[in-house]
Amino acid sequence: MAASMASQAAARGLRTATSKHLLLDKLKCTWRSPRRWLNLQEYQSKKLMQESGVAVQRFYVADTASEALEAAKRLDAKEIVLKAQILAGGRGKGVFDSGLKGGVHLTKDPAVVGELANKMLGFNLTTKQTPKDGVKVKMVMVAEALDISRETYFAILMDRACNGPVMVGSPQGGMDIEEVAASSPELIFKAADQIKRLYDLFLKVDATQVEVNPLGETPEGQVVCFDAKISFDDNAEFRQKAVFAMDDMTESDPTETEAAKWDLKYIGLDGNIACFVNGAGLAMATCDIIDLHGGKPANFLDLGGGVKERQVYEAFKLLTADPKVEAILVNIFGGIVNCAVIANGITKACRELELKVPLVVRLEGTNVNEAKRILSDSGLPITAAENLDDAARKAVAAIKK
Ligand code: ADP
Ligand code: MG
Repeated sequence: MAASMASQAAARGLRTATSKHLLLDKLKCTWRSPRRWLNLQEYQSKKLMQESGVAVQRFYVADTASEALEAAKRLDAKEIVLKAQILAGGRGKGVFDSGLKGGVHLTKDPAVVGELANKMLGFNLTTKQTPKDGVKVKMVMVAEALDISRETYFAILMDRACNGPVMVGSPQGGMDIEEVAASSPELIFKAADQIKRLYDLFLKVDATQVEVNPLGETPEGQVVCFDAKISFDDNAEFRQKAVFAMDDMTESDPTETEAAKWDLKYIGLDGNIACFVNGAGLAMATCDIIDLHGGKPANFLDLGGGVKERQVYEAFKLLTADPKVEAILVNIFGGIVNCAVIANGITKACRELELKVPLVVRLEGTNVNEAKRILSDSGLPITAAENLDDAARKAVAAIKK
């Protein structure tokens, strides 16, 4: 494996370059939820690792301080490590709003585990990977601590350039691997064995990434995965039911979860103009043009094609439930979508949900005249817009009033 290829792959993996990230970069927005796709907590990933014969330290999980204390006693270890379970990395250097510094703590005294757990559970932990208010810690891992004589980075991730998985490793320091192989071949063997097992796991669970940082070595030469982060291919959900069933969704934005139920693609953003659009391209353009006119989108919502009246209603319900929303901008281009279906959904939603914020509607395409008639006959205070630019301008102006 060429070094440049490895570093490129590593960069791609570490950046988790998803379309969501690209979108947010483009809009210069931050999203409200730290995650969207299936991610498992460290303890869940480690369970999967154990099942594949990968070496992880003994651990329990606890959701109360007294349980954590009990777990620490039960472990009966020389030293114990207490780790906050959130989906973001960088926990070791994180800070809690309880004042406690560090989401990973080592101690020899089980009583201290109880005290620390008290300052972790129920508090928000902020790390360089979380939103700025952090993420509430609902569970901690109580594990046996081991001395680590060497910490390395190891990951397996899907790489487009290679059309397959790439292994990325980074030894700490410039350790000469040939020398290690000659002086202590058992270490190479053990690492290779662990890597082989991690690769088997990568294939078995349809992972897109298995990241172990640190993959550590104890003074006795034991190779152990001290941290675990596995990302999964959502397209494999149908054959990975057990893995996907572990997703507790507690760190997801509830609105995104609800939207997914109705087949709506919703991403919460931090502005105040709700967007109601069909097609991802048009949704992006709409967010962009709102930005151009000095507004900020409250969300990215793609209704998709083949929209039913019920979906329109549910989408409106989601948008209006957001207290930040001060105006709604509908921008629909009816190709497959029948504008009249949208118009009926909108009028029904406006009446039933007693819409309180200004609504600007731009419809174009299939059956647009009928749709316009439905809207104007409704008697509802809807501002009609001629085109995308006009619509964005009117939505921004509606808020400034
Ligand atoms: P994060 O990556 O979120 O900061 P880690 O699980 O990597 O969290 O833990 C941070 C650091 O804590 C590790 O780099 C390692 O030095 C130490 N550590 C973690 N687990 C153990 C353990 N079981 N025994 C000893 N040290 C540990
Ligand atoms: Mg780590």
